Amino acid sequence: FQVHVIPLQNSGAERGGVVALLRDITERKILQEMRSEFVANVSHELRTPLTSIRGFAETLLDGALEEPDTARRFLEIINSETERLSRLIDELLNLSRLESHKWVPKRQPVNMGELIKRAVAILQPRAVEKNLAIKINLPEDLPVVQGDPDMLSQVLLNLIENAVVYTQAGGEVSISAAATQDEMKVDVKDNGIGIPPESLSRVFERFYRVDKARSREQGGTGLGLSIVKHIIDAHRGSVQVESKVGIGSTFSFVIPLEHQAASEDFS
Ligand code: ADP
Repeated sequence: FQVHVIPLQNSGAERGGVVALLRDITERKILQEMRSEFVANVSHELRTPLTSIRGFAETLLDGALEEPDTARRFLEIINSETERLSRLIDELLNLSRLESHKWVPKRQPVNMGELIKRAVAILQPRAVEKNLAIKINLPEDLPVVQGDPDMLSQVLLNLIENAVVYTQAGGEVSISAAATQDEMKVDVKDNGIGIPPESLSRVFERFYRVDKARSREQGGTGLGLSIVKHIIDAHRGSVQVESKVGIGSTFSFVIPLEHQAASEDFS
């Protein structure tokens, strides 16, 4: 609590009592703590690739440049760490834009089936590299949703990319969409490594990873799922995950379908 004590004076200049103002500042304090924890996390996440870039560059300057094979290997690491760094910065900017309340998703008709096919086409080369099959199951009459096509593409890319990254070679990823009268549901299912039960409720937190080393190795930033959650929340939808270690995971999101035409008819 923040306490303000204001003395009251009566006409004879004697103290006539005090007014005490009590204000609950716990919420503000929690926000402040969250903010400084976030800054600490960001600094740590930025420092890790920088330390590695610097280390490999110094080793190259100290003589490793003379051995072409070693030099190439070190330069490849420097290159991939630089990529991860710029991806981290892009995702941080993305997240900060989503978190600023100024951002409102576009509302235009979106063909979810098309977005799914495009996201799969983008990720197909990575799946082929790992000998993974990606399947798409779409009903013929999938309705159009109102939403932000760029943002919804980002959701699909993040979920499908995770499914590809966290599934062993030879595995399978399948994406399906279905709609009821009121909502559309999209499932991204894999038969990969799965998520332990104690981590399930935490994977949507910023920077949370089940296995930091594995995520980093794959160029992960730990921000993908928190971006997904923000975007789906902004579409007044919900995201959920079901998973079993060693069996696989299914990430699903639901978006309400709005029957504007119907409500307009009634007005
Ligand atoms: P990252 O950049 O680490 O992939 P995300 O926010 O996308 O960050 O995901 C957070 C964590 O959730 C990942 O580090 C991983 O541990 C876990 N995860 C996400 N998707 C899957 C999946 N399909 N299978 C297994 N684990 C997953």
